Amino acid sequence: MLTSKLPRVGTTIFTRMSALASQNKALNLSQGFPDFDAPEALLDAMARHVLAGHNQYAPMPGVRELREQIAQQLGRHRAINCDPESEITVVPGATEGIFCAVTACVRPGDEVIVFDPCYDCYEPAIELAGGRAIHIALDEHNFSIDWETVAAHISPRTRLIMINSPHNPSGSTLSREDLLQLQALCEQHDLLVISDEVYEYLVFDDREHHSVLQFPGLRQRSFALFSFGKTFSVTGWKTGYCIAPPALTSEFRKVHQFVTFVAVTPVQMALADFMREDPDYPATLAAFYQRKRDLFCNALQTSRFSLTPSAGTYFQLLDYSAISTAADTQLCEDWTQRHAIASIPISIFYHAAPQQSYLRFCFAKSDEVLLEAAEILCKI
Ligand code: GLN
Repeated sequence: MLTSKLPRVGTTIFTRMSALASQNKALNLSQGFPDFDAPEALLDAMARHVLAGHNQYAPMPGVRELREQIAQQLGRHRAINCDPESEITVVPGATEGIFCAVTACVRPGDEVIVFDPCYDCYEPAIELAGGRAIHIALDEHNFSIDWETVAAHISPRTRLIMINSPHNPSGSTLSREDLLQLQALCEQHDLLVISDEVYEYLVFDDREHHSVLQFPGLRQRSFALFSFGKTFSVTGWKTGYCIAPPALTSEFRKVHQFVTFVAVTPVQMALADFMREDPDYPATLAAFYQRKRDLFCNALQTSRFSLTPSAGTYFQLLDYSAISTAADTQLCEDWTQRHAIASIPISIFYHAAPQQSYLRFCFAKSDEVLLEAAEILCKI
């Protein structure tokens, strides 16, 4: 009756691994979400707005006060100027924002450059728009981009480049030099950019996050996507935002208004209150998560895994090549069942996975859970 438009797509690895973890009562370090709650003031604000009856549709681009707070935050933390009216759209999660941005840009036959390991929602969006993902693998060891390879893959059909920094699942980050290279290529070939910056505040060891919004040549041709889920530990609230110049925002909103129309009203109002009252909160995140990364990595010192501490995100890759030659997909299921610890295999994010032995562990967890996880892993 129906020929699938996404024949190669099944249920996401995050859904599958969280379900397997739950069935096996395993520690769940697979799907990325904190096991601790958001700041209390934010939760209070949410309850307050629901009870105050702020439960009907918000304006399509988002609650005005929240868009103003987003603009303030960008000014405060990144020295970026942004117009809440014409450049900021609040969306029900960065996933929806990415879908809308891809849909707004890609026409049948267009090519879109993505970097593997590539976050799972990019390619289905490209395919549904009739486009074709051109996969370029990041360096196998340090997950950096080779810009000469990128240049060699640009064709007259290339429409868009999608980047993600800090990068899920590898934890690598793009440097200022990377963004300058991207800018030069995009200007030369007149390309658009979708920049997934949902982990923008989670960068470690005094690294800086570099946003496409800080580079004039990229600013004018980019959609930048952010997620309150990551920044405020409310992944279940599914709220984020897209920043793009007015002409791109206008096309973005044409799609967004027919995909979901708006994001959830009391969530937006609560976020606006919290951001107004505690504008420096995002700046506390790097130290908070770096301590968790270090706790986890140090507790693994006597294990047989090897690792390079993650540069950003709340994910840590562990190399298991000294332990097993099994495929990561198999090992990950096996260890969830046998050792009660769940992680994410990274080969799943590749078009053609190299010979690698990495599993991804989420360290947005309580110290007790991280130490318990490390104890299990040290015995493997
Ligand atoms: N982004 C989260 C992760 O990488 C998962 C979100 C989802 O389940 N779609 O683990």
